[in-house]
Amino acid sequence: MTSTIAFLGLGHMGGPMALNLMAAGYQVTGFDVVPAAMTSAQAAGLPVSATAIDAVASADIVITMFPSGPDVIDAYTGSREDPGLLASARPGTLFIDSSTIAVGDALRANELAVAAGHRAMDAPVSGGTVGAAAGTLAFMVGGQDDDFAAALPVFEVMGGRIVHCGGPGLGQAAKVCNNLILGASMIAVSEAFVLGETLGLSHQTLFDVASNASGQCWALTTNCPVPGPVPTSPANRNYEPGFAGALMAKDLGLAEQAIRSAGVHSEIGMLASTIYRRFADGTGANRDFSGIIEDIRERSRKQES
Ligand code: NAD
Repeated sequence: MTSTIAFLGLGHMGGPMALNLMAAGYQVTGFDVVPAAMTSAQAAGLPVSATAIDAVASADIVITMFPSGPDVIDAYTGSREDPGLLASARPGTLFIDSSTIAVGDALRANELAVAAGHRAMDAPVSGGTVGAAAGTLAFMVGGQDDDFAAALPVFEVMGGRIVHCGGPGLGQAAKVCNNLILGASMIAVSEAFVLGETLGLSHQTLFDVASNASGQCWALTTNCPVPGPVPTSPANRNYEPGFAGALMAKDLGLAEQAIRSAGVHSEIGMLASTIYRRFADGTGANRDFSGIIEDIRERSRKQES
């Protein structure tokens, strides 16, 4: 069994994911550039390394969980004083990047890893910090069949649903496509509730009709943007996330990049990205993304007066 894992990026997601791997019996060494993240991982029992280079030098698998694509590429390639992860790992090391990054950056990271004599996969996740802690994340994986087979037991520790989406970059492709659907459907559901209430329709009535009709979708029946119909939705706790507006804006920005580079005519996707960027730049960065309904209501009031 491949058993030695370097886990880099011990933030909200990476910290609990690394701990789950350790609890499952893998030999995990963590590293983060931010000392506070190292301290809290260590306090939770995770062995950490003083440098990323030390952590990857003896690893069979290197998992990265960073904020952005440039973070991944810079860490892979290093700088003048820093040889980078690819040059520091043993030949044939399996690099798994679970960060949510642009499809183009994922392809570039894969090319760099393969050119340096390694194996590489993109494996972004959904399920948030709750899924990371519970080991129930959904993994969308892009990479070769044999690499996927080798990494599957590792994904199964951290995740509840693992889908091999195809070759390199297609894990990130699946993630941006899913989040395009999610962002656009949350805006549509929220606009429908604001229209309904303005016309005199109660939230519960609209919910009862749409959730049993063709308007049915996750944004309505699980993450319902009005309090009441779905008691567990963030709307019932003043839009405490959940899935924060800043992350939705980031993911739709990545969808926008993919739409542009693929040359796809996606009017709703582009508009959803603009709407969530405005929400995150305003009051929505740290609120659940379903809080977009308050923005829509507020803009409707202003339009009326
Ligand atoms: P985070 O900012 O909490 O953690 C990222 C960590 O990576 C930070 O601690 C940072 O210091 C570290 N880091 C950056 N560059 C590094 C380097 N070169 N070496 C070592 N450590 C480095 O972010 P997060 O919420 O854990 O999210 C991580 C990724 O997962 C993001 O791409 C995000 O979009 C994605 N994601 C997040 C969620 C969520 O709910 N938080 C859900 C799904 C996907």
